[in-house]
Amino acid sequence: MRTIYSEDHQLHDGLLEPDGDGWAPSVECPARANNVVAAILERKLGDSIPPRSYGDDKLTTVHDPDYVNFLSLAWSEWIAAGEKGSNAKPFAFVGAGMRYADTRNIHGRLGRYSFGSNAPLVAGSWQAIRRSAEVGLTGADLILEGERFAFSACRPPGHHATTAQCGGYCYLNNTALAAQSLIHAGMDRVAVLDVDYHHGNGTQSIFYERDDVLTLSLHADPALEYPYFLGFKDEQGSGPGEGFNRNYPLPFGTDWKAYSEPLHDALKHIQDFFPSAVVVALGLDTFAGDPISYFEILAEDYISMGQRIGALNLPTLVVLEGGYALDAIGENTVNFLEGIENA
Ligand SMILES: [Zn+2]
Repeated sequence: MRTIYSEDHQLHDGLLEPDGDGWAPSVECPARANNVVAAILERKLGDSIPPRSYGDDKLTTVHDPDYVNFLSLAWSEWIAAGEKGSNAKPFAFVGAGMRYADTRNIHGRLGRYSFGSNAPLVAGSWQAIRRSAEVGLTGADLILEGERFAFSACRPPGHHATTAQCGGYCYLNNTALAAQSLIHAGMDRVAVLDVDYHHGNGTQSIFYERDDVLTLSLHADPALEYPYFLGFKDEQGSGPGEGFNRNYPLPFGTDWKAYSEPLHDALKHIQDFFPSAVVVALGLDTFAGDPISYFEILAEDYISMGQRIGALNLPTLVVLEGGYALDAIGENTVNFLEGIENA
C-alpha cells in the first residue's frame, strides 16, 4: 500500500489548547505523523510519495470560499492587528440573537470561522493545512487511477471541520474532500466510515443532505464526549440524504468485543449501499492507552478492525484522523493498514 505524506505538517507546531486555568501544549503535535511514517518505513508497508498540488477550486468543492480565504490570511491578519500571541485563537462566538454580518476584526473573524478554541493557527499553519488536504486528494486520485488501497497520512486531521468552521484540531476536511473528489470524478456512490473515537461532525454535516455519499461513524457518545453537539443516533440524514447517515454512539470503556457488533452493522449497511469505493477516517484515539479518550481497543485489535473493513473487498482510501498515544500510534496505524491489505 502506498502512503501519501508531506513534511510540511511540521510547520503546524507549537499549538496550545485550554488546560486548567491556562494553556498547555496541544496533544495534536508533529510527533503524531512522524511516528506513523516511521512505523510505515520500519514495517516496510510500501512506498511513501509526496502529495500533488491542487487549486483552490478543489478545496471549495467542500468548503466555503470565504472560509478558505480566511484560513489562508488569518495569521497575517493576526500579526497586522498587533497581536503578540504565538497562537491565533478565538474567544468570542456568535450566540442566540446575534449575527455574523460584516465581521472584519480578526477576533470576530476567528470566532466566525471556528466552533471552538481548540483549532489555533500559528505562522506555518496554512501551508500545513493545505498540504494535508492535498495528501487526502492525492489518495483519492490513486484510487481513481486503479490502486486498490492508499493511505493518506494527513496532519492536521480534518473530520471535525465543517464547510466554514474549524474546531477540534481540524481545519479542512481531508476525508470529505477525498470522498467528494471520487464523486466528482464520476463514482456514483462512495461510503465514508469514520472510526475515530470522536464523532466526525464535519463529515456528517457536509454530506447530510446527500444520497450519493453514505456517512457512518462509530464514536464515544456525544452526550458524554466531544464534540457534544452532534453524533446522536437519531441523526439519519435529511431531504434526499434521509437514511444515508448512521451514527453509533458507544459508552466509555468500549472494547473490541463491544465495538465489533456495531462495526459489523455499519459494514453491512456499506455492502447494501453498493459503493464504488470506501473512505475510512482512521482515528487511533480508540486505543486503550490514548491520553484523551476512554475506549479500550488494543494494538492487536487494529489488525482485526482492518481485516473486517478490508473484507468489503472494495477500493479503500484510509485517511489519518486523530490518535494521541505517541508511542503507539505508529504500530496501531500499521496494524490497521496491514489488516486491510491482508483481509
Ligand atoms: Zn478523535
